[in-house]
Amino acid sequence: MISSREQAPRFGPGHLLVDGNDDRLHRTAEFAFDPTVRQETALIGLLRVCCETYNAGLQERRDAWRQSRARIRLFDQFNQITDLRGVRDDALAWGARPLRGALRRVDEAYSAFYRRCAKGEVPGHPRFKASRRFHTACWDEPIGWTASPKVGTLRIQRVGTIRLPKGAVRQLRRLADRGGVPVTLTVTRRRAGTGWSWRASVGFKAVAAIKALPTAGVDSMVGADRGVAVSVALSDGTLLCMPPFLGDARDEISDLLRRRDSKAVGTRARTSLNHQAATAYRRAARRSDNWARETAKELVARFGVVVLEDLRLKNMTRSARRTVANPGTNVAVKQALNRILADAALGKVRHRICVKAEEAGRRTWVVNPANTSRTCAVCGHCAPWNRRSRDLFRCVACGHEAHADLNAARNIAARGEACEAAWRAEGSPSLVRPKPKLRRRGSTAERCSDPNILNAA
Ligand SMILES: [Zn+2]
Repeated sequence: MISSREQAPRFGPGHLLVDGNDDRLHRTAEFAFDPTVRQETALIGLLRVCCETYNAGLQERRDAWRQSRARIRLFDQFNQITDLRGVRDDALAWGARPLRGALRRVDEAYSAFYRRCAKGEVPGHPRFKASRRFHTACWDEPIGWTASPKVGTLRIQRVGTIRLPKGAVRQLRRLADRGGVPVTLTVTRRRAGTGWSWRASVGFKAVAAIKALPTAGVDSMVGADRGVAVSVALSDGTLLCMPPFLGDARDEISDLLRRRDSKAVGTRARTSLNHQAATAYRRAARRSDNWARETAKELVARFGVVVLEDLRLKNMTRSARRTVANPGTNVAVKQALNRILADAALGKVRHRICVKAEEAGRRTWVVNPANTSRTCAVCGHCAPWNRRSRDLFRCVACGHEAHADLNAARNIAARGEACEAAWRAEGSPSLVRPKPKLRRRGSTAERCSDPNILNAA
């Protein structure tokens, strides 16, 4: 399984992110689909009802707290859905699951809100959503819909049977062939010109892992140093650079946004330029994600254990984000945007490595990155002047010379070895799945420490 960074157990100088011990995995098929006019009307109606449910759920929680300091839990709200029968049959036409999905989102919004409060941040209170901005419906159980890979259709209650494009069918078949059972469905719409484009993702459980032996040997280990100039440097001497998808898009986007700002608010030209900018951004993000996928695939095919440095991306982007919020000059904003984009790509690489590693049965570690770029990988001498320039590392004690990122990657691999040793010493324990949140006693609302938080809202 893949552990979240917060919950990953510590062994030696690092944390175990992926143990590679699972035979059955959760996997998602994501695809675009093209509903007929009638189906689209039904889907839009569904989103309207989901939005109404979301707002009603939010309203109930706010009112209950304001009036009697009562806290409403997710399952209290779930139970009310059945009360709609006979009163709001129009809302139940799609089944109860999508309404539950909307209430679950209210719960998630509150959980995030309380979590940030507990951390001492000042979060915004969950807000009501406008129907035209509510784009997602989700089913948490395989009730009210069926995905049939054999026939190539997605049937949704009240919407009808949607024919899926070839790529979607291929994805569904691949997961079904590996023993996958479809369990969840999410349908999302997105603006496309004057209409909408639709996407769905089907979550499968019990998909068989594909365990092939790594080409470099079972216990082969690789350290990977992620950076902005060289995207990924490997301890075996490979330097991988992502093409500047995001950098190129940034110029295009800032150009589009500048043109947008010259148009009056509410005009069609302005909306169109907005959409063009969004499309350009999405395209770049998709390309860098593809690159991350391919890189991860390659790494995992070659090595048995992957070691990454534990970058705290949130901390790295925090100051940049603040700069965007109160922009001083354009230069500052642009620099901040640069960093955010680069950091986002680094996060993607890590995420994709974890996903591929889980699928192929590999272990993944994150280790403390402190001093990895100043320590000599040969003699261990640590000094800031070891690093001569951005690219060059030359040890002042032993004279070892290497590309700075490769030297760092070797240090990361060495820390990975220490992690593996500590992990083996404890009997190679597997990761343990945390208990499902919903079964814990008391909801997240119960654990809120400051009862006055909601008064401010
Ligand atoms: Zn040295």
